[in-house]
Amino acid sequence: MLGLLWSGAVRAQSLEFGSEEQAYLASKGELMMCVDPDWMPYERINDQGVHEGIAADYMRLVAERIGIPIQLVPSASWAETMAFARARKCDIISMARKTQERLAHFDFTQPYLSYPFVIATQIDQGFIENFDAASDQSFAAVKGYAVTEYLKNRYPDTPLVEVQDIDEGIHLVRENMVFGYIDSALALGYKIKERGTLDIKVSGQLDFSSSPAIAVRNDEPVLVGILDQALASISSEERQTLYNEWVSIRFEQGTDYTLLVQMSIAAGLIVFVTMFWNHRLIRANRKTRHALAQLHEAQRLLEEQNFQLQRLATIDPLTGLQNRLKINESIEHELQRFRRFHKPFSVIMLDLDDFKKVNDEHGHQAGDDVLIEFSGLLSTLTRSIDLIGRWGGEEFIIICPDTTLSGATCLAEKIRQQIEAHRFMSIGQKTCSMGVTVVKGDDTIQSLIGRADQALYQAKDKGRNRVQTASGPVDVSA
Ligand code: GH3
Ligand code: MG
Ligand code: MG
Repeated sequence: MLGLLWSGAVRAQSLEFGSEEQAYLASKGELMMCVDPDWMPYERINDQGVHEGIAADYMRLVAERIGIPIQLVPSASWAETMAFARARKCDIISMARKTQERLAHFDFTQPYLSYPFVIATQIDQGFIENFDAASDQSFAAVKGYAVTEYLKNRYPDTPLVEVQDIDEGIHLVRENMVFGYIDSALALGYKIKERGTLDIKVSGQLDFSSSPAIAVRNDEPVLVGILDQALASISSEERQTLYNEWVSIRFEQGTDYTLLVQMSIAAGLIVFVTMFWNHRLIRANRKTRHALAQLHEAQRLLEEQNFQLQRLATIDPLTGLQNRLKINESIEHELQRFRRFHKPFSVIMLDLDDFKKVNDEHGHQAGDDVLIEFSGLLSTLTRSIDLIGRWGGEEFIIICPDTTLSGATCLAEKIRQQIEAHRFMSIGQKTCSMGVTVVKGDDTIQSLIGRADQALYQAKDKGRNRVQTASGPVDVSA
């Protein structure tokens, strides 16, 4: 992962070297490198035989800068690494601390990392303030490590077990075969986390730090200068990124967070999907509510329009009385009642006398006004059970339910007198004639209306302003 990252970031960043250095690199073609096979997070050779860790990433950067590849020479242990390097099987050791003995075979670049060495003990040990206080205890350290040489020289009386690697050292501590194991804080921390081992802890620190550099074969002195330049060209930003990559992230690989990460992703997905569906549901609900509101509004409009249509279909627009259509319906209704329950009803047909003259003398508008005023009079002069309608032109009709011929005739006469006595606003006096009839056994609308019309005609014929029953004229004096 880092290899990819860096190869993208530093492409074509190889340094400008002097002619001697260029000639050296050209003749070498590649550098052979020995490494510590198990010293994470500094470095290791993983199961696939790949060099990885902090040192590995540094070496990849160095290879980029010097412009020739660096090849790994695998080894099984640190001791073997040192042996290979001394035998010149490799040109460099990726990470080694400068010691007096090593100078016999190697030059060293400037250190490129620095971490303290610490003491790992069993969990119940107290804090070790300095190594001198615990120097009568036994310790383990990796054979050949600089710190091991340091301890042997500085504390020759302290029992020291030289182990193959960190795993063996930790094992000795856990089995109580040594008091403490000494290694770099980084390496120990990494191992403890990797294993999830909690029965070991860091109890103290040595006055000795791990400041590894690249160990370089000392029989080709130009190489150490080349590598120093390469290391110097690595910026502090790059160093920080590299450190974070291994210390912050790879450190945590020890504890298996895979399941946690997978569960978090799954939980995140579930939350996301739930939120997504909730959002869609809310939107759908909102849409439905909106559609329902629109539907209700449309329904309300439709009802209103229906009502208006019904009004238009049944009401005479000038007078507001029932129109001819509605009157027919009302008569039909009364006819049915008569047939079923023998409830008699009567019909009065009215026609304004000499109405043509009104239009001729006062204008059409005055004629309309008279028709409206006349309709109002009819409404006040009839009973609440009576139905009034405009039959057409200046002809009107009154249906009188539950009313005999004489009852209807009386009503008609009362109306006639009141109209005669009335003074219309625009024209003064105006009379009307009326024909009255009562329902008969075999009546239809046509026969009933026909008789009323016939009576009205007779009333006109006899001089107007009078009531005529279908059976004969009304005795006004009665
Ligand atoms: P009669 O006494 O014989 O009924 O005479 P008339 O003039 O009333 O009868 P006619 O049938 O000859 O004339 C009726 C007149 O009523 C004709 C028409 O101008 C007028 N008329 C009919 N409908 C309306 C209306 O809605 N408004 C107005 N202003 N006049 C109308
Ligand atoms: Mg008339
Ligand atoms: Mg008429």
